[in-house]
Amino acid sequence: MPELPEVETTLRGLAPHLLGQRIAGVAIRHPHLRWPIPKNLHKLLGGQNIRAISRRAKYLLVDCGSGTLILHLGMSGSLRILPADTAIEKHDHFDLLLANGLLMRLRDPRRFGAVLWCEGDPAQHPLLAQLGPEPLQENFDADHLYRATRQRRAAIKLVIMDSHVVVGVGNIYANEALFRAGIRPQLAAGKLSKPRCARLVHTIRETLTEAIALGGSSLRDFVHSDGKPGYFQQHYGVYGRAGEPCHACGATIKLIRQGQRSSFYCAACQK
Ligand SMILES: [Zn+2]
Repeated sequence: MPELPEVETTLRGLAPHLLGQRIAGVAIRHPHLRWPIPKNLHKLLGGQNIRAISRRAKYLLVDCGSGTLILHLGMSGSLRILPADTAIEKHDHFDLLLANGLLMRLRDPRRFGAVLWCEGDPAQHPLLAQLGPEPLQENFDADHLYRATRQRRAAIKLVIMDSHVVVGVGNIYANEALFRAGIRPQLAAGKLSKPRCARLVHTIRETLTEAIALGGSSLRDFVHSDGKPGYFQQHYGVYGRAGEPCHACGATIKLIRQGQRSSFYCAACQK
């Protein structure tokens, strides 16, 4: 699943190709994604200029003047900039056609992605209005995490993956950030002290920032890449390492299930 670093890298890759460009129209080959692609998108977008492109959580927001195109990569989506005559492949469900002869193509084999239209302030869109702070912005800090976890008996890992608390902390990054912070994933969130909240905020930012930096190295090939989404090859401390020795202490990495997801941790390093 594309995680926040992949979406941020996609944003940085798309921006120079989209900003200031005039939209010629759209091609909708398969409208049934997670929600239907609006039928009248061609009419809404044709002739508009792209004024800005930004990210909120894992949504990409393309400001087209008359409204905002909201894009989500779902489980398997990817976006690429390609020449308009590029052959269409099986899962290429949507194109945004630019007047300069290029297009932005959404490939989404599992069709959990989204192409939506929003008039007015996208921050007030039902999908975005209830979201917590961005993990890399200043309003996600120790005070925020401390307040958000008081009286909560839920496991800390589930709480930091809750988009009302903070957005964009997917399973890999939750596992890694908790390992680096020395916090057990199953610890009741309400038991986390203020200094440990501060430590966890720091390691969440650190793991995401490192992944985004790794993604930056793939930007060079953005236009002609093969379009396959995938995790950046990071060196993980615990993720995917069940049964292997902890890099820090040599103890065996454990695997448990929490909220249908795999949690990996070192019982010696994480308390
Ligand atoms: Zn260890």
